[in-house]
Amino acid sequence: MPSILPGATLGVLGSGQLGRMLAIAGRRMGYRIHTLSPDTGTPTGQVADREFCADYEDVDAVAEFARSVSVVTFEFENVSSLAAAAAERHAPVRPAGKVLHTTQNRVREKAFLTNAGLPVAPYRVVRSADELRAAIDDLGTPAILKTAGWGYDGKGQSRIEDETKADEAWRDLDTTEAVLEAFVDFELELSVVAARGTLESGSPFAAFDVAENRHHNHILDVSIAPALSPTVSPTVSRRAGEIARAVLEQLDVVGLLCVEMFLTGSGELLVNELAPRPHNSGHLTFDACVTSQFEQQLRAVCGLPLGSVQRLRPTAMANLLGDLWFRDGHRFEPNWAAACAHRDVKLHLYGKSDPRPGRKMGHLTAFGSDAASALRSALEARDALST
Ligand code: AMP
Repeated sequence: MPSILPGATLGVLGSGQLGRMLAIAGRRMGYRIHTLSPDTGTPTGQVADREFCADYEDVDAVAEFARSVSVVTFEFENVSSLAAAAAERHAPVRPAGKVLHTTQNRVREKAFLTNAGLPVAPYRVVRSADELRAAIDDLGTPAILKTAGWGYDGKGQSRIEDETKADEAWRDLDTTEAVLEAFVDFELELSVVAARGTLESGSPFAAFDVAENRHHNHILDVSIAPALSPTVSPTVSRRAGEIARAVLEQLDVVGLLCVEMFLTGSGELLVNELAPRPHNSGHLTFDACVTSQFEQQLRAVCGLPLGSVQRLRPTAMANLLGDLWFRDGHRFEPNWAAACAHRDVKLHLYGKSDPRPGRKMGHLTAFGSDAASALRSALEARDALST
């Protein structure tokens, strides 16, 4: 299959900020962009050529959407296999539906990782309160119970402190299938965003540098590259890149995928989660790298050579959540001018009109002479928004 060249139309399933930044990267290179999601006036739709409004499970609408584009990719992975198959009949779907099928369910994802010989925290699959109690007996407490499907940003999971809470935790999770994971007393959370091209282009592979990630209330708060902590030694970085490569090759990904990992006190890396699309921890590549994660996704799915992942300066990214739009329970307009007064800071807003606590509304990227000064600058600029 020949490369899909500028002038062609890229189809994006999903319409949030990841698709928006992919669309911006694509438009800059002369591609046209179509997006499909159940909403209109979306972050991606605002910068796309055409916005299809339909449910992801509406296979006729997905088929019509796929007929209108040269290749289909994702910014949202929870699209059913049926919908992906409907699209695959009309256009190449990259990554393929089977990649989504594996990564959208924690049981399948863990089985893949384990079979691939990749390191994960000890876990058990549980399908009832009885199985949960048995799993707690095996793994001990604390432990983290996670629904098999549709979880993100800490949703659909709970921490179990002792066995007597098993029934309550199972009831509250309200699911038929889950995994219980041993609690990992990690030193740090890291991620690697990596891309793999088409077979025809020689299946090239390129991984961005490891990012150090800090979460707040289970939501990513800041990402830093290069990693700030000295525990991220060159050996750890290399190993993280090797894990990412093994994941993309063994899952046969054509496109971009993020591997989230825990780094333990003994220097061990454990894979926490896979996301077969651009990732929040890769947003800093938009301003910091020769090729952003979004352009890289586009290059990979269009069969173009992958771009350089070189990062030009130490960089930190701070998320802007909807909470910033409220003060003492009242609406408040963040002080954009004060943040922009930080001359080394780039402001990204996703065009969402309805700020809500916990909702990702935008982010700031800051540069510095080293990772610590980049982080300081990102946090100062974010604090300035509330002045
Ligand atoms: P997840 O939705 O699986 O990415 O989990 C969200 C966040 O919860 C992670 O980024 C960690 O901060 C925390 N977390 C998840 N699983 C574990 C675990 N097994 N042990 C300790 N913390 C965890």
